[in-house]
Amino acid sequence: MPEFALIDRLRRHVRGREDVPLGIGDDAALLQPPAGEQLAITADTLNVGVHFPAETAPADIGWKTLAVNLSDLAAMGAQPRWCTLSLSLPEDDAAWLDAFAEGFFALADAHAVVLVGGDTTRGPLSLSVTAIGSVPPGAALRRDGAREGDDIWVTGTPGEAAAALALWQAGQLDVAAPAAEPWREHLRQRLLRPTPRLDAGLRLRGLVHACVDVSDGLLADLCHVCARSGVGARLALSCLPPSPALHASGDGRVREWQLAGGDDYELCFTAAPAHREAVQRALEFAGLEGHRIGHIVSGRDVQVLDADGSPWHPPRAGYQHFG
Ligand code: ADP
Ligand code: MG
Repeated sequence: MPEFALIDRLRRHVRGREDVPLGIGDDAALLQPPAGEQLAITADTLNVGVHFPAETAPADIGWKTLAVNLSDLAAMGAQPRWCTLSLSLPEDDAAWLDAFAEGFFALADAHAVVLVGGDTTRGPLSLSVTAIGSVPPGAALRRDGAREGDDIWVTGTPGEAAAALALWQAGQLDVAAPAAEPWREHLRQRLLRPTPRLDAGLRLRGLVHACVDVSDGLLADLCHVCARSGVGARLALSCLPPSPALHASGDGRVREWQLAGGDDYELCFTAAPAHREAVQRALEFAGLEGHRIGHIVSGRDVQVLDADGSPWHPPRAGYQHFG
């Protein structure tokens, strides 16, 4: 099947919109940003064997390819608007592409994100998205604003995607088929279908000092915030969000998954204690639970303390491609 026929199969899913004066089909797309707003642009690639197991269902790959990018816009407090999609495909498999598109556009349509262009080539399976959103000047949730005394918050239940990956690596989870036990299926969904916390990101504008999405591991991503902000952090193990599914796994690595697992796509942010109630309300409106897991301190150290106050050291800091 020629390349343009593959592109056409994706284009079928795309409807025109006023803020896309020129979409797929020309040498470049033309976009009309909302007056006075800044653009937020982010790109992330998923490679087979690195970011997802080869047997992952194409619809799940489609969903996750977009989700990891929208998660970055969520962490900026940006309103998502457009995206491009660069595909490297080993073969011209129309059925595969249709299934991929089903997952991709389920998420794109849910957040009114318009696919405006991309690239299609032959090669090892690799999916790359550039997501573009907008945010009023000064409203973005950056990494560099954390202040001493801030509460540290995290949404949802980090660690679950890492647990699913570990189960898969141990031959105890089939990523391509639903699991029988509800807890195992819950973990599988958290790995394959992460939910970008876009509504929460928008509602947290004006309330938080710094924000990051958790992709490499809670601790590693919090360290990025601290480094950019010139502060340290103290986390309490006892305050990590409890997860029934992690508990049900009965595995001794739960702490490691929660703090250093990655692939969570939750938001970790810091806010003044005076904003506790407002933050709680914002998260509730977004349909999320938030947990206060520690606070920002002066200095540069990021410490995790267990229940009796002694320091806890994770077996590994987080995911690194070239570590
Ligand atoms: P060019 O040679 O100018 O790069 P292409 O043949 O690569 O053009 O693409 C033709 C049109 O299809 C362009 O508008 C491009 O943005 C779009 N396109 C190509 N691949 C994709 C894709 N995977 N998803 C969305 N749009 C795509
Ligand atoms: Mg091209």
